[in-house]
Amino acid sequence: MPLVQCSRCKERKAGLDEPPLPGELGNKLMQQTCDGCWQAWVSQQLMLMNEYRLNPLDDEHNKFLDAEMIKFLALE
Ligand SMILES: [Zn+2]
Repeated sequence: MPLVQCSRCKERKAGLDEPPLPGELGNKLMQQTCDGCWQAWVSQQLMLMNEYRLNPLDDEHNKFLDAEMIKFLALE
């Protein structure tokens, strides 16, 4: 795994093997997020989806989750 300077934990750690999302966001995650923080977001996302009863097939819900992810992982 390549090392990345993670925006969330501010440490230089192992990054992701492959982009978990397509497009620009996926690129940012590859460059700015370590594997540990990504796993933390995956758990947080599940919690949010349960709490707000989000539907991953709903565009509005996906926009909300993307915005939460950007805040959670401190993506620039
Ligand atoms: Zn991190």
